[in-house]
Amino acid sequence: MKSTDYIAIEDEYGAHNYHPLDVVIERGEGVWVYDIEGNRYLDCLSAYSALNQGHVHPAILSALIEQAKKVTITSRAFRNAQLPLFYKELSDMTGYEMSLPMNSGAEAVETALKLVRKWAYTVKHIPHYQCEIIVADGNFHGRTISIVSFSSDTFYKNEFGPFTPGFINVKYGDISSLQAAVTPNTAAVMLEPIQGEAGVVLPPEGYLRQVKDICDQNNILFVADEIQTGLGRTGKLFASQHEDVRPDIVIIGKALSGGFYPVSAVLADRDIMSLFLPGEHGSTFGGNPLGAAVARAALRVIRDEKLVENSEKMGTYFKEHLEEIPSSHIKEIRGKGLFIGVELKPEARGARRFCEAMKEKGILAKETHENVIRFAPPLIIDQKTIDWALPIIAETLMMP
Ligand SMILES: *Cc1c(COP(=O)(O)O)cnc(C)c1O
Repeated sequence: MKSTDYIAIEDEYGAHNYHPLDVVIERGEGVWVYDIEGNRYLDCLSAYSALNQGHVHPAILSALIEQAKKVTITSRAFRNAQLPLFYKELSDMTGYEMSLPMNSGAEAVETALKLVRKWAYTVKHIPHYQCEIIVADGNFHGRTISIVSFSSDTFYKNEFGPFTPGFINVKYGDISSLQAAVTPNTAAVMLEPIQGEAGVVLPPEGYLRQVKDICDQNNILFVADEIQTGLGRTGKLFASQHEDVRPDIVIIGKALSGGFYPVSAVLADRDIMSLFLPGEHGSTFGGNPLGAAVARAALRVIRDEKLVENSEKMGTYFKEHLEEIPSSHIKEIRGKGLFIGVELKPEARGARRFCEAMKEKGILAKETHENVIRFAPPLIIDQKTIDWALPIIAETLMMP
């Protein structure tokens, strides 16, 4: 079967809730993927940063195989021999006293929201059910009904109401808008330190610090959704650390699995995490030994291969050289570490056609909204590979 045959079958039998580039990937290794016809591509999306460690990392693969031979799931009705070590290693690496494992990112966000509401009623003593959580316009936190309830993207939500109340939207990056939204019933502010799906949108310098200060002054929890920005993507373990902010609650996912198996987690200190009582929250697959073994290996790779440092080094190099491309289509290049957005001018007629052209030349990147191309390769990328990619990106962005 050829790529076109797979595409035809997929389009006939699968729901059309995505608009993928027409490349049928059969195999991946490191920063590279190969299609059915054997063509090689540089992966500059990394499955939305689920692949910070690169495709099919051998150490994570062997952890997966070894654990799969022993026991894969016990359910949390019983204990298993991987989960405690996962908790301990995650705590050692992140500095948070406790964590709660889930599977997808959206589930971890829902978990954090439940934790915030419990804290609001039992610690801050906000009257039942008056809890307000401040979120930002342009946010992306997942696809559940509660989460799309506070999306500002009408396309994500319009046909999916009625919506979950209790969320207040403010302008991202605008501290006075946030200050004005605070009421005695505000329990938390939840933000992405850099908005990924909005198009790699960085808030003004100092914004996260100011948000944290407002939270501290008003007894409000700061929740950072680091599902995409965390685990090294921006050149720090967490993007909040660029402004020396330690959120009260951190949500991680994506690269926590090394791309093998969905694992997400909510991190917090004991005073907050202890609010969950047995039976109040859970997940059949969350914390299973296969996922825990995979996540332990994924964290080890980030640490042992110094991926955080490499992200910062290679990201700076990549961005500097992208900035040298003399393309009249480019409006702005922004980012931190290997999390880079190239925003095109509206006259460029959309980012999609450039992504399709790069695909023909062996680079996979994905447009984000209309006008942004996101470059977020696996954090294992080296300078030689970036040097290979830059002329191709330049040539593509110089197209008429
Ligand atoms: C991807 C993402 C999510 C949702 O994660 P899923 O695993 O797709 O449910 C939530 N927040 C951010 C910032 C993300 O990038």
